[in-house]
Order: sequence, then structure tokens, then C-alpha cells
Amino acid sequence: MQLIVGLEIHVELKTNSKMFCSCGTRFGAPAGSQCCPICMGLPGTLPLLNEEVVRLGVIAGAALHSEIQPYSSFDRKQYFYPDMPKGYQITQHFHPLCLGGWLTLPESGKRIELEEMHLEEDSGKLVHDTDSSYINLNRCGIPLLEIVTKPVIENGDQAYEFLSLLRDTLVCSGVTTGKMQEGALRVDVNVSLGNVNSNSGMYRTEMKNLSSFRAVRMAIDHEGERQKKLLDDGIKPLSETRRWDEKGGFSEPLREKGNAIDYRYLPEPDLLPLFISEDFIHQCKKSLPILPEETLLRLITIPNMKSNQASILANNRQLLACFDAAYARTRDAKRILNWLLGDYRAIAKKNNLSPENPPFDPNDFAELMNLSIERDLNYQEIRNKMMLMCRL
Ligand SMILES: [Zn+2]
Repeated sequence: MQLIVGLEIHVELKTNSKMFCSCGTRFGAPAGSQCCPICMGLPGTLPLLNEEVVRLGVIAGAALHSEIQPYSSFDRKQYFYPDMPKGYQITQHFHPLCLGGWLTLPESGKRIELEEMHLEEDSGKLVHDTDSSYINLNRCGIPLLEIVTKPVIENGDQAYEFLSLLRDTLVCSGVTTGKMQEGALRVDVNVSLGNVNSNSGMYRTEMKNLSSFRAVRMAIDHEGERQKKLLDDGIKPLSETRRWDEKGGFSEPLREKGNAIDYRYLPEPDLLPLFISEDFIHQCKKSLPILPEETLLRLITIPNMKSNQASILANNRQLLACFDAAYARTRDAKRILNWLLGDYRAIAKKNNLSPENPPFDPNDFAELMNLSIERDLNYQEIRNKMMLMCRL
């Protein structure tokens, strides 16, 4: 028996306006100040697709090695909830934007494969006071990309590692801010115990809207333990949606899957299907920077490079440029990492400099590292030279 975990990640796309209207998307705007009849789906309104949403979706697809579909379309997912006055959510159910894809975890080399990715709109938010409840519709129509992994994740640590790399990749591509505290990234977790090859796990529990990677890791491991205990006692766990209580560190049932809602999906009649040209995909691919996955896989093969150090470098262009320049000259990763990630960042913190953006040129740093070896400089001499480079 082994833990089988699949993730569904809702990523807020970084656009200035919403998915189907010109309302703003600024986080923290006064409640109700960013919504219009289209967001609310009032009779007589028509959605108009924001091209930037498609562009960011395609960029995300390219960054995650996904097959961008030349044809995709929108559908209505119908359910009643007070935070969604339209009575349905526009999503891509039958023909999603992207199929497949993957990210490779640098340390283990394990490939986390993706099932699909689709565009959809967010719903509003219920705010509960002591004696009344309010609805804030600012989030209605905020563009989301939902990324669905295959059930290939084996434990909480792996999920944590995957999510960190996913967020870094999407932030680096300019697709999202990745700010979890602002709801820009939310994770649903599906957990069952079984045999991956026999595709067993006849049941599956789901925990929705986890708002930190730490919570995801804890929820997965805790849920695995809970199911194992049940199975050891000869009880088959129920297929159900559970709520993860982050403060208490436990989960509790919300509703049984047997009572799952029938969403009555139907093709959205007010939006044309999306035809995406080869040329558009090519332009999006061309705009991608070198991504953390590629950098990490390169860095992790360097002797003396620890995974957390590789991760810092992969997510900071300036630090990476310094490392690369110095490593090309000296091949002494340990010395470079000590100075760049240790001493420089300590100096930066003390003197109000940016730890991520050193004020010196990568070539000057490379020269300093080279000099320190050639002239066998002592610690204080190197440090003094570094302070000079920082104009301190
Ligand atoms: Zn609007």
C-alpha cells in the first residue's frame, strides 16, 4: 500500500482587468468596488474574453511542457452558492486549453506529470461577521488557471517540493504573483492509499482550498495516516470531501462524494471557441525566460551545491549571474556559495542592501573570487574587498 496523491492548483493570472469585463483586479480594493453587471451576470450582459488571459495560459502551458490545444472552448459549471450570483461558473470542461505536461523535481529527478490545465473564472467571497454575512463580489470573474496533476505524488514532502517549483516557474514566467496570502495560489488535495500500478484506491478523499504549502504537506501526511489506521482496522475509508483545520492539525468530514453535486456542464453559448495559432504559441514560447526547473537541474549537478542553495540561485537572476561568472573562472563552488549566499547576504542585511540584488557586477565578483585563490587572500582581506565593491 502506498500513498497516492493528486493536486488541483488554482493559479490567479496576473492581468490588469478581469476575464470577461474591464473591471480591475487589484487585491484589497474596497468590497464591491471592482464589479459590474457582467461580473454579476445580470440579464442582458455578454462576456468578452480578455486576450491577456489566453496569452498567460499559453505561457504557463509552455513553461510546464504541456501540449497547448489549437482548439479549446468554454463551458458553464452550474451550481448555486451565494458568492456567485450568475448561478454558474465559466470554465473549460470539455476542451481544456492544455493537455499533459510535467515538472521534474531536481533532487530526485522524479517527474510530476500533469493531466491538464484549463482557464476559469473565480467566484466572489463570503465574509462572516458575528451576526451577519456579507458578499464581496470583487473576485467574481478574476481569471484563474486550474492545473491538475496526475495522481503520482507519493508524500507530503514531494507535494511541497513540486508546489514550490511550480510557483517559482509560474512567477518567473510572469503568469502570476504567486502570493498565497492574497489567494493567488490555492491547492486542492486528493488522497488515497493503494497501488499506483493497479490504479487502485477505490475511494478518494479530497481537501479543498489549502492556503499554504506547509498546510498541504501536513494535510497529506495526516490523511495518509488516518486512512492507514482505518484500513488496518478493516474499515474502508469513505470517499468524501474533508476540511483541513490548519491550526488544530486535523481533518473532519464535510460531505460524502456520493452526494456529489451534479454540475450539469453545458457549452457556454455566449463565447466563441478558442482557436490558437502555431504562431501565437511560438511567440509565447519565445517570451519565456530560462526557467527555475532548467537552472535547478543544471545547478544540482555541481559538486558541493546544496538543494536550498540551488533553489535560491534559480530564483534570483542577479545572484545566479554572480555565481555563474565566478564558477566559470574558479570552479570553486563552495567558496563562491559561502561568499555570495553567506557573507554577502549578511553584509547586505546589516547595511540595508538587497540580499537578492548585489550592487556589484558579476564579473567583478568573479574577479574577487579568482583573486582570493590566486593571491591566497585571508578572510578579512576578501571581506574588505567585498565591502569596497558594495561601496561601504
Ligand atoms: Zn466586471
